[in-house]
Amino acid sequence: MHSQTFNAVAVLLLATRSNGHKQKGDACLALSKALPGQVSFPNSTLYAIENNYWSQRQAALEPSCFVAPSKTADVSTAIKILTSLDQPFSVKGGGHAAFPGASNVEDGVTIDLFRLTEMTISADRKTVSVGAGNRWINVSETLDPLGLAVVGGRVSDVGVGGLILGGGISYFSGRYGWACDNVRNYEVVLSSGKIVNASPAANRDLYWALRGGAGTNFGVVTRFDLASFEQGDLWHRSLIFPGQLNTTLIPIFHNLTVNGLPSDPAAHTYFLLTYLEQLGGFAVLTSQFHSTPPPSLPAQEFIPSIFSPFNAVAQAAIVNTTTIANISTVSQSISQPSGSQQIWMNVAVSVASPSASQLLIDIVPLWQSYVANLLSQVPSSNGTQLLTPYLIFQPMSSNILTAMQVAGGNTLGLDVKRGPRMIVQLSVTWSDAGLNRLVEKKTKELIDDINKLAKRRNLDDGFVYMNYAEPSQDVFSSYGRENKDRLKRVARKYDPTEELKRLWRGYFKLG
Ligand SMILES: Cc1cc2nc3c(=O)[nH]c(=O)nc-3n(C[C@H](O)[C@H](O)[C@H](O)COP(=O)(O)OP(=O)(O)OC[C@H]3O[C@@H](n4cnc5c(N)ncnc54)[C@H](O)[C@@H]3O)c2cc1C
Repeated sequence: MHSQTFNAVAVLLLATRSNGHKQKGDACLALSKALPGQVSFPNSTLYAIENNYWSQRQAALEPSCFVAPSKTADVSTAIKILTSLDQPFSVKGGGHAAFPGASNVEDGVTIDLFRLTEMTISADRKTVSVGAGNRWINVSETLDPLGLAVVGGRVSDVGVGGLILGGGISYFSGRYGWACDNVRNYEVVLSSGKIVNASPAANRDLYWALRGGAGTNFGVVTRFDLASFEQGDLWHRSLIFPGQLNTTLIPIFHNLTVNGLPSDPAAHTYFLLTYLEQLGGFAVLTSQFHSTPPPSLPAQEFIPSIFSPFNAVAQAAIVNTTTIANISTVSQSISQPSGSQQIWMNVAVSVASPSASQLLIDIVPLWQSYVANLLSQVPSSNGTQLLTPYLIFQPMSSNILTAMQVAGGNTLGLDVKRGPRMIVQLSVTWSDAGLNRLVEKKTKELIDDINKLAKRRNLDDGFVYMNYAEPSQDVFSSYGRENKDRLKRVARKYDPTEELKRLWRGYFKLG
């Protein structure tokens, strides 16, 4: 017997009482015996590196140890030990979820997947197998030189795992749907430690559940086999305007979402408002992307016709940059540094009706008074702004919703017949942990107010996108009762003893 396997078996036997009941034990010790060299303890350099998260709200937690398995079998060993010892744990992919405990745990064990970095490309170039410890920059830096891409994250440092398992908005969603719609196969470690595949050919119910259902309720995904396609450089234009132009720009953006995007699946866009003192206060930014720029034209000479309605106002832009570059370059250009406190919340509104343009406009003053309130309590210090707020509109246009159904559909419950939606996302970055409760409270109140406003106008949708949500938001109910019940049935089948349900702390649970 392989010595590592032997160690694991010995530890499991030690951990189980003769009457078959489980007892709590020193999980970190057991893990370090079974998986030598893969466990890090507080005060070590590796522990300090692993306890880095995008959001300080997560990094503030201190697990008893991190275990970083080198291969799928080691993930299985770790899960067997943790469940046999009744040990609470969490799983870290790229560590980009914003709220505390999403992928870290106080006084428990955090399984850090960072060593699972394999990447292989099939001979026919149609499938890229990506280890769950990769970030999107690893994927694009491998695929760019080959002229290939996958439907993945837009920002370089974000982890592959969390983004795909919660949905995954991509530059290529207009044509292919979200990242979760483009997984051909998941390799998964279940709560029993068993390693299974989930695909249209094997464990179909689990395959469906993992398309938007998160890993937390089903298992640790160790490898994603992603559909790949031929792809060259991306066109990217970024326009920044003075904030008061929002009432001119929002109707253009609304029309783009409803009528423009469905006519050009190669286009992708989002729209945000922020408050930045160095830009003179409130500012509007619209980022536009196109995945099939003509190879011979310089970036500035190519403006996809779908984005031309912005040309009339482009001369009012404070910043107007246009580039054509590979995915790695674009994804690095919009990356956001780690090390601050972060919160994200969101809710979708229906935008099919022309009146939705006014709804989006009317959300802005609600957000502005929330910003004024927060900034009044967090004044700038020596000219440095200590809190930066964002209001972001991300379209779920009808072509995206239709593309989601092509490869079998997902768990999100986004029926295209109900028309296009807009994800209204709130995001705040700040430095002082003493403000966490205030920002959490105010942001939750604003999301409630936006929802109420949308309801009053009959434009509420209710969908909450997991990857931008706070734990107080009922993500799974927003998928609809039928999908939630179906997800629960799948969770019961693959976690029959409810060990993941009890021990995997943090993220969104089916209840
Ligand atoms: C700067 C930035 C840019 C972003 N850009 C986009 C974007 O373009 N599109 C988009 O849709 N979202 C985007 N997001 C949101 C992002 O999808 C979520 O934050 C996502 O959770 C990040 O995944 P992660 O693996 O880095 O996070 P983590 O915090 O490591 O994980 C999030 C959750 O997923 C679980 N998990 C991670 N890996 C696995 C696995 N292999 N098996 C089982 N469970 C796992 C974790 O346990 C945790 O519950 C962005 C976020 C940030 C901070």
